[in-house]
Amino acid sequence: MIVWQIFSAVFGSMIGSFLNALSYRIPVRKSIADGRSKCPQCDKLIHWYENIPIFSYIFLRGKCSECKSRIPWSYFLVEVAMAIFAFFHTPSELSREAALSYFFDISVFASFLLIIVIDLKHKIIPNKVNIFLAILFFGSVVLNKSYLYWLLGGAIGILFPLGVTYLFYLLKGQIGLGGGDIKLWGALGLFLGTEGIIQNISYSCLLGSLVAGGLMIFKVVDRKTPIPFGPFIVVISFFQIFFPEVIGEFNKMIFSFS
Ligand SMILES: [Zn+2]
Repeated sequence: MIVWQIFSAVFGSMIGSFLNALSYRIPVRKSIADGRSKCPQCDKLIHWYENIPIFSYIFLRGKCSECKSRIPWSYFLVEVAMAIFAFFHTPSELSREAALSYFFDISVFASFLLIIVIDLKHKIIPNKVNIFLAILFFGSVVLNKSYLYWLLGGAIGILFPLGVTYLFYLLKGQIGLGGGDIKLWGALGLFLGTEGIIQNISYSCLLGSLVAGGLMIFKVVDRKTPIPFGPFIVVISFFQIFFPEVIGEFNKMIFSFS
């Protein structure tokens, strides 16, 4: 029903607003309980009416009302993305299963957005986000799947990229993947299982190489620029978890080539 969907979208946009506070506070190790939001440039306290998800950004035209410094456009995008996602994932019935699956979907999508924003800006994936995802995924598979499914998935998610990184290090003396990427794969492996995590590693590396190659051709980056890898892992995971049929089509395409 549309009323519930709007309600869910408003809730989603509020989660988005919370994510923006997290993406600002986690990398600088500032507590989330640490007082009201301030403008990072001029320390002006942000009024409640300047903190309304989506609308405040439009109303303030993306600038602090005091010092006119720019509010990152990612703040607006995160709130809009959360609202749209929540709108389309509104539970269709009132049941415990529907509520749990809503909570799961919202939490996974929110964590993915947080990883994209933080990794693009700071080139890290915080442990806190990886641990949150690992707990979430473990909770959802532990009763439904055999322990071999999640145990092997998680182990491959960590060991396979770790092995490749080590080999790369031996060959070139450089660290390729970050520890945050490997931990993220470990968490995802719990949920995706063996086959899913191998698929994720292959496709996110493929996507990463294509994008990095494109950026190099257009001289946006050179060989030495470190490219955050988290967003690629997250984009592939997003399709695997929420739109598996897209991955299925892609598999068919890949196999028809070989
Ligand atoms: Zn300001």
